[in-house]
Amino acid sequence: MSKQQRYISGCGIVLKRTKLKETDMIITILCEDGSLISMVAKGARKPQSVFAHAIELYATIRYSARATSQLAQLTEALPVNFKETNRNDYTKLLTSSIVGDLAQHLAQEDLAFEKFYALTHAALHAIVHTSSQQSWWIAAAYVLKAYSMAGFRPCLTHCCICGSPLQLTRNYQRFSCNEGGCLCSACQSCSYEHTLSYAFLNCYWTLETSTFAQLSDAVLELSLLKKVFEFESTWLSFHLSITLKSLRLASHDITALARGRCS
Ligand SMILES: [Zn+2]
Repeated sequence: MSKQQRYISGCGIVLKRTKLKETDMIITILCEDGSLISMVAKGARKPQSVFAHAIELYATIRYSARATSQLAQLTEALPVNFKETNRNDYTKLLTSSIVGDLAQHLAQEDLAFEKFYALTHAALHAIVHTSSQQSWWIAAAYVLKAYSMAGFRPCLTHCCICGSPLQLTRNYQRFSCNEGGCLCSACQSCSYEHTLSYAFLNCYWTLETSTFAQLSDAVLELSLLKKVFEFESTWLSFHLSITLKSLRLASHDITALARGRCS
């Protein structure tokens, strides 16, 4: 007698699509509990496949899959919001990929990560519904909110060593990636690697405390965006050993964009 087959189902965001054999695909999904799951979508690369349009990158889908001893096998996939696509917008594809790439690094298989799905879904939704230019800020805000949610929030309002409030009358603060934040004047004898301008800190706090909807309308200085991306790259690399190509590419694009505006 054959064993009864077990099915899994739920809602999730498609974070990665990997080719498998001639016509199949492995998709990696961020589930509603914040964990990752990978499954095989048989025949998904055939044009007439029932999965072809549903499992677009960064789409939210309702899925059903058959559990096997190896990867689960996708049996049904329905897009939750069919119109949410950035397919023809290079900037939005890049900003979405920053969100998707980081989500893949921070989420883990079989490990629930509370609120992470909601954060990721909100960021991708906001990118679809805002302008290309504002989507840069959504991506920048997502990165710092995501690593903070994972427990790696830099200390930028107090001295990270003694805990005393920082003197915000100064136009810059000493910052140590190694120590995990800003340093007061008494603790500055500890080695510090950077100075952060007050304008940068103000921008960072705005990104940290604003919702994605608020950032869709916010007027922020483009010159600070590159500094935010560079800070995030350094922080992710130092504390989480994560290097995001999409984040470096974004930093490069912003430099070119800022140059274009100045010339
Ligand atoms: Zn101190």
